[in-house]
Amino acid sequence: MSPTTSQLSEFIRSLYQTNEFIPLHAPTFGEREKQNVLDTIESSFVSSVGEYVTRFENQVEAFTGAHRAIATVNGTAALHAALYMAGVQNGDYVITQALTFVATCNAIHHMAAEPIFIDVAYQTMGMCPIALESFLEEHAITDGQNCIHKTSKRKIRACVPMHTFGHPVQLDELLAICNKWNIELVEDAAESLGSLYKGQHTGTKARFSALSFNGNKIITTGGGGMLLCADETEGHRAKHITTTAKAAHPYEFYHNEPGFNYRMPNLNAALGCAQMSHLETFIEKKRELAEQYKAFFKSSSFQFIDEPSECRSNFWLNAILCEHSDLRNTVIEEQNNAGIMCRPAWHLMNRLPMFEHCPRGKLTVSEDIQSRLVNIPSSPILKRDDQ
Ligand SMILES: *Cc1c(COP(=O)(O)O)cnc(C)c1O
Repeated sequence: MSPTTSQLSEFIRSLYQTNEFIPLHAPTFGEREKQNVLDTIESSFVSSVGEYVTRFENQVEAFTGAHRAIATVNGTAALHAALYMAGVQNGDYVITQALTFVATCNAIHHMAAEPIFIDVAYQTMGMCPIALESFLEEHAITDGQNCIHKTSKRKIRACVPMHTFGHPVQLDELLAICNKWNIELVEDAAESLGSLYKGQHTGTKARFSALSFNGNKIITTGGGGMLLCADETEGHRAKHITTTAKAAHPYEFYHNEPGFNYRMPNLNAALGCAQMSHLETFIEKKRELAEQYKAFFKSSSFQFIDEPSECRSNFWLNAILCEHSDLRNTVIEEQNNAGIMCRPAWHLMNRLPMFEHCPRGKLTVSEDIQSRLVNIPSSPILKRDDQ
């Protein structure tokens, strides 16, 4: 038997123990957040100078195992800088998924490159290695140094899979294909801080990856992001170019190349440091919540999206697949009417006006998932003594 929409509302209300509006994902703050932010104000170091930025970067490095983490103003900026570091150039193609948030494609666009859309896999909802390989075999050649798109002769420089809703993509398979075809893999790990792929943190396989700390992500700095680098030297250069490429000097302003002003303000980093101290708890609580949803939807006609095998997901956003798209529309409408925020997946990127002319492979799985998916409330549920 499948739950009716009112049984679903009752269940979600019983989890969150409230009669108020239930958002899709709300941030959780403790005392330390207030103290840290207050500290930046009282010290007057709210902006580009102050010790929280370095502390936050060190915390993320220690947590993920990334060699270098560079805090940025937002996740899009981190992704832009990652693509810049990966050597993407004007007129290049960059492969990504059709099922992603627009920021992935915007960052590609900011490099004056264009996306190529590849289908996703049901197991991960992220880029499908089989679809990637078959696109390349049909439409690309490699000369051992570069990958060339056959008909346009443009270079396919990079490939950006995204760990959808926190579930890790098949990184080993994607990396093997990228290496074979001389394409640079860049991870959009904006949604997957704390997720593990075969025991390794997402965002640490590729040479360059991006995280986001937007208000709806697993931890937040208000707005913010982070560029993860696997190599110390490249990390050093990435820090340099994201901070106006300024030579270190007590009072002189000397810049040796065009840079970005993507540095995260100390005020936001202060919030980030406090949030990092709760991250393990958030992951634990989100995984518990996912277990409860999983049990509720078991043997119903709704399919709960579980973590892929050999992975630990942070379950950033829980999701279900409805039997068909009419039912999806009903679920979304009725839950929202009942004060429970549910929403569909993003419109596919190939259907947005600025990207509809871009090359693509077959997108049958993306289209099917997009037409049937509903994201359901996913904020971690913390008791008083968890904070
Ligand atoms: C959140 C997010 C980003 C980055 O977004 P910002 O709002 O710029 O921090 C990038 N890609 C994906 C898939 C995201 O979900």
